[in-house]
Amino acid sequence: MPNNTNTVVFLDTVQYGYGLSVLNLSIQNTDMNCSILVLFWRLQPYVIKMKNSLVCLNTVVRGLIVVVFFTGLINCKEDEKDKPSVVPPPEAEAPEEEVPKLITATAVEYYGALKVVGNQILGKDDKPVQLRGMSFFWSQWIGKYYTPETVTWLKDDWHCSIVRAAMAVDQGGYLTNPETEKQKIYTVVDAAIEAGLYVIIDWHDHYAYDHTQEAKIFFATMAQKYGDKPNVIYEPFNEPMQVSWSGLVKPYLQAVIDTIRHYDPDNLIVCGSPTWSQDVDVAANDPLVGENLAYTLHFYSGTHKQFLRDKAKRAMDKGIALMVTEFGTTDATGDGLVNKEETRLWFDFIEDHNLSWCNWSIADKVESSAALKPNASATGHWTEDQLTESGAFIRNEILAKNPDFE
Ligand code: MG
Repeated sequence: MPNNTNTVVFLDTVQYGYGLSVLNLSIQNTDMNCSILVLFWRLQPYVIKMKNSLVCLNTVVRGLIVVVFFTGLINCKEDEKDKPSVVPPPEAEAPEEEVPKLITATAVEYYGALKVVGNQILGKDDKPVQLRGMSFFWSQWIGKYYTPETVTWLKDDWHCSIVRAAMAVDQGGYLTNPETEKQKIYTVVDAAIEAGLYVIIDWHDHYAYDHTQEAKIFFATMAQKYGDKPNVIYEPFNEPMQVSWSGLVKPYLQAVIDTIRHYDPDNLIVCGSPTWSQDVDVAANDPLVGENLAYTLHFYSGTHKQFLRDKAKRAMDKGIALMVTEFGTTDATGDGLVNKEETRLWFDFIEDHNLSWCNWSIADKVESSAALKPNASATGHWTEDQLTESGAFIRNEILAKNPDFE
């Protein structure tokens, strides 16, 4: 509220004996800087001579005073209208800064090295980064898509800003054919670096604590080779089963983290938690030690609904940062109906919390979470007819939300 003070000093003295009449009208408004109106009339030449005229004059003067007073008051009100209110208008809510749709830089050039600050993953400008893209399938089973052309197509046609190389460990994977599987990782990671995409190196294993030495050797190799590339994100444990976090999963992760940090002090490491990387709230109660550590959250929309969003929220409220390195639009089996309605609820949650994600998966397997129909090319250039219901839905989401990076 404006703080106005009006003071009216009114002197109307008609002194017949001395022939002097003084009128002084002052209107002050100190806070509004209103002009000070002072009238000072000297009437002595007239009052000496004619008493009757003096009485008449006094009446005229009183009338003038009233006119002047109200004129001054009106002027003050007019001035008040012109002046801005002394109370500043409420600060408009800053519009959320939107990432431009067309960016003449690659995703990695634009966002830079990723860093965890509190429960957020930030880019080089200290703003939250949201990446959206695709995960490849188990490398030993559908390794044919681990090609540079597929990576390039996912960037150019889908506008992915991230991909995930899911290196199988057991079941005929790295433990059986280390060089073959490792080469698939090199192919995808090198192509992603060339394309300016972020890329996750995923130790795709449900029992990684049984393969700790192998994991340490593998990630030591990766960290030495790629530790200076801001593109690279390590995921040392895809999905632990329903086992102890503090007793089994955390010690394994801590050992691999320490190995990676020996060669690479800073690239982002995203860690799994028990119950197929759903127990992020359990991990948040006993977090890992180190810098630039986040936790992966996996969900399948047909199976994992509000209860898992609540767990994720609790984990973030405790201060850990999350990244959805794998999710499906279907049941947890990877099959069943494509649940778009529930996936949209997940997208709302993801947008609200600036989470990055990779969808499962670039595969032509006959199951509903696969993005491609059988026999889709291993070098991209897929027509829309070659995308499954889930693949087309996810591609549309990426195209709608991701910028078109160079
Ligand atoms: Mg580094």
